[in-house]
Amino acid sequence: MFSKKEKPLIAFTIEKCPSCKKETKRKFREGDCLFAPAPECTSCKIPTSISKIFGQSIE
Ligand SMILES: [Zn+2]
Repeated sequence: MFSKKEKPLIAFTIEKCPSCKKETKRKFREGDCLFAPAPECTSCKIPTSISKIFGQSIE
């Protein structure tokens, strides 16, 4: 799947609160997709949504 030169990628999911714009980064979980509802913001108590999914190489 990966060539030997490339570092393995870990997928991360960013959940963003629409109110305070706080972004929470967590590891990607199976079933995550863009704009899917995410757990509520700890400070605003309103549901957040997934704003970004990306892969990051581990050092
Ligand atoms: Zn918030």
